[in-house]
Amino acid sequence: MTSFSDLGLIEPLVRAVAAEGYDTPTPVQAAAIPHAARGRDVLGVAQTGTGKTAAFTLPILQQLDADRRRPEPRAPRALILTPTRELAIQIGESMTTYGKYLRLSHTVVYGGVGQNPQVQAMRRGVDTLIATPGRLLDLIDQGWIDLGAVEIFVLDEADRMLDMGFIRDVNKIVSELPPRRQTLFFSATMPQAITKLASELLHDYERIDIKPEATTAEKVSQRVLFVEKANKRELLGDLLDNPALDRAIVFTRTKHGANRVAKFLDQRGIGSDAIHGNKSQGARQRALEGFKEGRTRVLVATDIASRGIDVDDVSHVINFDLPNEPESYVHRIGRTARAGADGAAVSFCDFDEVAYLHAIEHIIRQKVMVDAEHAYHDDRIAARHADGPQRGAQVKSGRPSGGRSSNGRSSGGRSSNGRSSSSGSSSARSSRNGRAAGNGSSRRRR
Ligand code: AMP
Repeated sequence: MTSFSDLGLIEPLVRAVAAEGYDTPTPVQAAAIPHAARGRDVLGVAQTGTGKTAAFTLPILQQLDADRRRPEPRAPRALILTPTRELAIQIGESMTTYGKYLRLSHTVVYGGVGQNPQVQAMRRGVDTLIATPGRLLDLIDQGWIDLGAVEIFVLDEADRMLDMGFIRDVNKIVSELPPRRQTLFFSATMPQAITKLASELLHDYERIDIKPEATTAEKVSQRVLFVEKANKRELLGDLLDNPALDRAIVFTRTKHGANRVAKFLDQRGIGSDAIHGNKSQGARQRALEGFKEGRTRVLVATDIASRGIDVDDVSHVINFDLPNEPESYVHRIGRTARAGADGAAVSFCDFDEVAYLHAIEHIIRQKVMVDAEHAYHDDRIAARHADGPQRGAQVKSGRPSGGRSSNGRSSGGRSSNGRSSSSGSSSARSSRNGRAAGNGSSRRRR
């Protein structure tokens, strides 16, 4: 079995991961680290929960340490771009953890908070900058950040960037980077627009595919409960009467839905907190911390807000509403059964959501077990589901048209560690250089 030192990592990094209690690298780490640590570009098709943060953080730390210099003001040597503040903060925490025996610095830059501490950190200079797109562009425009010295660029959760409408910002940021650099590109799914972006950014890269079905099909037990919309809250209350659900995330489709569910749970005396885009950064952080530390039993979240929630031992994911994008289902249930622990996903499906359930079953390539053993089981919905997908029923999907999963699964066998790896093409070289040739910011500030 591979160990962290077999991956060619230096002793202070091996010691830091051992101190975290990691025995063996996860598949994405085993596949990506040797290439990334040697300076190669990597395309990692992997979702949160696979250990991808360490897969890019460790190689960055190793390379920066090998050529350690005093950080230049405003000009980081590594940039990690990630879609949400929560993810940015968590990546910063991972960097602190893994880099604790090295003398390297980093800072995190994101919106929704005052910019002064971020500006001060950039004035002093850091080795690695972790950022969300909007605030990064603001600080570049104001002259506080110069990306001209970036040697390693990580684009994290590229598909989510696209979903959140950040693709133009990403392109602007990329145009500020030097053409000669290492790029590590991570995405949970590979819709067409992301494949195109990857081919523009990567050069002679290694592709690593971590198949999500290892999580959905094998580790997480899944069941669906057919229930009318009006009965969902009572059903949720009944489920949560079971103390085995000791750390649950409840997903709703909308922010209002999240607030309503949290209010209902409060009335039933079940401790919960809601986390969504309308809450202030402080409130989101407090909710997340309360949940992490086990003070709050139930976190009610929307898909976007949940991105990057990194909490160990989530016992249950409850889909109060089914997502209209089937990939979101895979993301959601990936919150439980993390890094090998067992978990359970419970989905409520009302009459109007049956088409969503069909789309989900299509991409996970299996039927979700029906659980009719509850007070609100609705036969009409079950019958509609049993009828199979309706002709002409359209479900919004993040994938290009065509029914196959964008993860390119073949219906046959799966490799034992759930990954495959192959060299990527080098045809991206010219377009990548072409894009970056427009570099050369004239904005400067002392
Ligand atoms: P990530 O996909 O980076 O969000 O990581 C998911 C979770 O797995 C985090 O809680 C990590 O701390 C944990 N983790 C990462 N690598 C390992 C490993 N090699 N062994 C055990 N846990 C890990």
